[in-house]
Amino acid sequence: MSDCVFCKIVDGEIPSTKVHEDGLTLAFMDIGQVNPGHVLVAVKPHVENIYGLDDRLAAAVFQTVARVARAVKNAYSPEGVTLYQANGPAAGQTVYHFHLHVVPRYEKDGMHLTWPAKNPPREQLEANAAKIRAAME
Ligand code: AMP
Ligand code: ZN
Repeated sequence: MSDCVFCKIVDGEIPSTKVHEDGLTLAFMDIGQVNPGHVLVAVKPHVENIYGLDDRLAAAVFQTVARVARAVKNAYSPEGVTLYQANGPAAGQTVYHFHLHVVPRYEKDGMHLTWPAKNPPREQLEANAAKIRAAME
């Protein structure tokens, strides 16, 4: 897609600092570096978000993510690693070309995802699950 920054990176039209490349995925350094070693893993074809991933791309991207996460752990010995992936503005997505963040983590590193758990009763879990099961392809 011509005005997509990650398509331009995949096509080599703008610079990136690459970590790994294969037929379907590209891993490169996030320009923002929440912590040193913060890597983005993107699919090569222009797919906006997770809803557009076919099984082959989904498998390929997670294989690369697992390999990159192991490498980040070996390279930086962080206290933890967070995988972060956003779909749509409400979820925090800012680049609309599917990618996943691999972020080395440390206590008190300033990265926060608030998690307002509601702990509903079991009947509510059952109703929510039934709704999703009915929508599964
Ligand atoms: P998200 O909010 O999950 O869509 O993340 C988009 C990420 O892309 C941000 O963390 C940006 O720092 C990163 N980013 C944007 N442009 C570039 C670029 N040209 N090279 C590397 N990372 C980029
Ligand atoms: Zn794109």
